[in-house]
Amino acid sequence: STDWLCQRAWVEIDLNALTHNVRQLKRQLAAKTQLMAVVKADAYGHGAVSVAQTALNAGANWLGVATIPEGIELRAAGIQAPILLLGAVHSPEQVRAIAYWQLQPTICNSKQALIFAETLKEMGQTLPVHLKLDTGMSRLGTMWQDAAEFVQLVRHLPNLDIQSIYSHLATADSPDTRVMEQQHQRFQQAIRTIEAAGIPLPKLHFANSAATLVDSALHYDLVRVGLATYGLYPAPHCQGLIDLKPVMGVKARVTQVKDIPAGTGVSYGYQYIADRDLRLAVIGIGYADGVPRNLSNKLQVLIRGQRVPQVGAITMDQMMLNVSSIPDLQVGEVVTLLGTDGSQSISADDWAETLGTISWEILCSFKHRLPRVAV
Ligand code: PLP
Repeated sequence: STDWLCQRAWVEIDLNALTHNVRQLKRQLAAKTQLMAVVKADAYGHGAVSVAQTALNAGANWLGVATIPEGIELRAAGIQAPILLLGAVHSPEQVRAIAYWQLQPTICNSKQALIFAETLKEMGQTLPVHLKLDTGMSRLGTMWQDAAEFVQLVRHLPNLDIQSIYSHLATADSPDTRVMEQQHQRFQQAIRTIEAAGIPLPKLHFANSAATLVDSALHYDLVRVGLATYGLYPAPHCQGLIDLKPVMGVKARVTQVKDIPAGTGVSYGYQYIADRDLRLAVIGIGYADGVPRNLSNKLQVLIRGQRVPQVGAITMDQMMLNVSSIPDLQVGEVVTLLGTDGSQSISADDWAETLGTISWEILCSFKHRLPRVAV
């Protein structure tokens, strides 16, 4: 039995919710548009292999990863679907690993293209490749004005088979769509110059979660969806555009219950001092599990469907709760840090708002020492 794994703290992964989200996303897409599940960073902390398998079964066609080891993990698990490496590579060693593991690389400029071509020629192998344009993200890719020249160069290199041309949006999650529209115009302009040079167009793709939800004109042949797959909306104005269910829950158990008198300091630095006699619960999760220490004294958790305040500094492996409202609380009871308990829910968006960050970062923050448990 693996029950002992869930005695301290764990991450629950609701694969049925994931299936639901993928199906909801697929329903938004025209028949010609394929769906890439972006499973980089261990599927945003959800566990890459089980997420990838579930997403493919639910109708995703592609997988997206950031690094070569992330791609290898999927191939080593027997996953055969096409895997796009979204990150840039620059060395012959990387090219050989990509070719060996049958990953599909992103090529960001002509220098990288030459390294690929030279190494693949030596290997006697041809690789499907994807070309990245910078239309305004100012991250990877060749500047959109130089698109035709770049594509023409890659076309004439040996051993490279252009599968797609793509770009990435900088502000798709903003209700102000001006930058997104400007990026789209640049993308269209780049495509027109490529066509005008007599180059046949490969697949085109542009949309992340937000763009997929807000504008079907951005879907093209493929959408690259991360966050929405995991059941979160990229921005408040996207709420309810489709029905998404959060996939991740974070749970811990009560490890000790005790009473402290008024005036007692709690945890390192005495950032909290009891203003009355109260009952404390210690729970077995802390910042080394990925609960940000900056949530100390701001976090609320759920026990028996009630909201309970966390008190004192969050420590490496543990934190304390004021459980005076649940006088008969027992050691071993389950505490929900993220997820639903009865009529109450706490989401990664709530944590992100308190911390001044984004839900993407919250999902990615949970460490491997929390077992991932499929529910
Ligand atoms: N495409 C690229 C190139 C990305 O880097 C990412 C993630 O940051 C995505 C798509 C997916 O983005 P999101 O999680 O907002 O759907």
